[in-house]
Amino acid sequence: MSASQTSDPAPQTSTPASPRRLLEKLSPVSGARLGEFPVADEAEVRAAVARARAAFPGWRDTPLAARAEVMARVKQVLAEQGEHYARKISEDTGKPTFEATMMEIGAVPLLLDYMLRRAPVLLRRQKVPTPLVLPGKSAFIEHFPRGVIGIISPWNFPFQLAVVPVLSALIGGNTVVLKQSEITPIVAGVVEDLFRRIGLPAGVVEIVHGDGSTGAALTRAEVDMLFFTGSVATGRKVMAAAAQRPIPVELELGGKDAMIVCADANLERAAEAAVWGGLVNCGQACVSVERIFVVDAIHDRFVEKVREKVARVTVGGPDEQADMGPLTSGAQLGIVERHVNSAIAAGAKVVFGGEKLQRPGQFFAPTLLTGVTPEMEIFREETFGPVLPVIRVRDEDEAVRLANASEFGLAGSVWTQDIDKGLRLASRMECGQVSVNDVIQSVGHPALPFGGVRSSGIGRYHGDAGILGFMHTRGIMVDRGFLNSEPLWFPYAGKVSHGFELLKGITTRSLGSLVKGFLGLRKKMTRPK
Ligand code: NAD
Repeated sequence: MSASQTSDPAPQTSTPASPRRLLEKLSPVSGARLGEFPVADEAEVRAAVARARAAFPGWRDTPLAARAEVMARVKQVLAEQGEHYARKISEDTGKPTFEATMMEIGAVPLLLDYMLRRAPVLLRRQKVPTPLVLPGKSAFIEHFPRGVIGIISPWNFPFQLAVVPVLSALIGGNTVVLKQSEITPIVAGVVEDLFRRIGLPAGVVEIVHGDGSTGAALTRAEVDMLFFTGSVATGRKVMAAAAQRPIPVELELGGKDAMIVCADANLERAAEAAVWGGLVNCGQACVSVERIFVVDAIHDRFVEKVREKVARVTVGGPDEQADMGPLTSGAQLGIVERHVNSAIAAGAKVVFGGEKLQRPGQFFAPTLLTGVTPEMEIFREETFGPVLPVIRVRDEDEAVRLANASEFGLAGSVWTQDIDKGLRLASRMECGQVSVNDVIQSVGHPALPFGGVRSSGIGRYHGDAGILGFMHTRGIMVDRGFLNSEPLWFPYAGKVSHGFELLKGITTRSLGSLVKGFLGLRKKMTRPK
């Protein structure tokens, strides 16, 4: 359904006329049924892609300033609807409304403003220098949109992680077919509402609702690029599907982010950050703190500070104004329990929490574990839950080595009051973003590229990369066309020694040889009559 044509994102609560498959949505806070949502099949996905394809030439040829004007209306809609949207996001995910407001909705205008400001600079045709050996020519680089972009998004930040890639694709003139997570169908409706309200031309943003089968159908459809955010397992399938055509693919996958706490860190700030960075969004952030490396000299003092702070974290649903909500996905709760239990069985110590809360809904206690070692599952695999695993290390070198000994490499942080040392350690961390004395907030810096290494993904977005990643690049060379032939063209007779002279000029940067070789070649440019 085109985002320009839809009306209300309300769930389907009555039996549909057609036998469409429906998915039930339960509240992560109470377990109550919130509605049923339809699953688009292959034919519907293909029809949506066809509409986006038909809309592409019109949107591509719309001047950038006019595209930017439509897109800027997103800010107006968020100003008017932001509170309503934030409450819907909280209802669907269980996350605190403050987090929904700041981290989901608040991130969008920040990143959008950057795109609107930078796109006219980045997407302008740029002249580049031409070497002397190509006299009489000028050269330019320009970018043009890839076409129809298939975007598939996850449930943990379901609003931001759908809206930002869509806007990043639109600014350069692409059209989009978006498939959001079936775990957060209410937010999927909110996103549809947003794009309908800004008044895009029909077909520019097509939204298909459904589960993995709908996502898989989109990867098989005639799109020109796939942009995927989600798990490594699904990322592999998306990449395999992209390879069949082949089309470019960007993968934003999981993480196991390391926090390295040096002996000279501001321990109070570092402890606050560990608690927020590990428990924000109930730990369901790709860039949440998943491994805390603490040097031996301050380990016990630091752990005690973290314990005090974890104990003060309040847990509850959005209506309770708590710090931490439930896990959004029931399946994720099972993974968290498995990681914590296997760590305990392997010798980790529970300093706080460690179990599911005895109340309705998908609540797990904020949990602090010490004695975590590299052999444990919780060290190696993404937990994506409210758990702070602490690893005692001898020194910073051991911390960096173990931080890098991971399948993942999304983000990380270094804690020291010596900024030069912090930067040196940051440069040794094998991941896409590092903060010194901060955590997670770098994701919201609009100029910084975002993305991972190894299994954390392929490609970058946000910043300039977020605009250019959705574009093809074209090189253009212009000759004024005065000469009837070129030194390089036929005939070759009599040219070899001049060619050697020219090569000498190129390799030694000798202007004399360049000119001599070139003039010699010019004399031989035409065949004698
Ligand atoms: P997921 O892989 O289960 O699902 C993501 C999306 O893919 C959903 O929309 C789903 O319906 C769809 N999908 C499922 N099977 C598919 C298939 N065969 N083909 C195409 N699409 C398919 O991931 P999730 O559980 O929704 O998200 C959590 C994961 O996402 C975590 O690993 C997290 O770290 C990662 N994540 C990464 C980033 C990042 O920017 N790097 C951001 C947020 C989340």
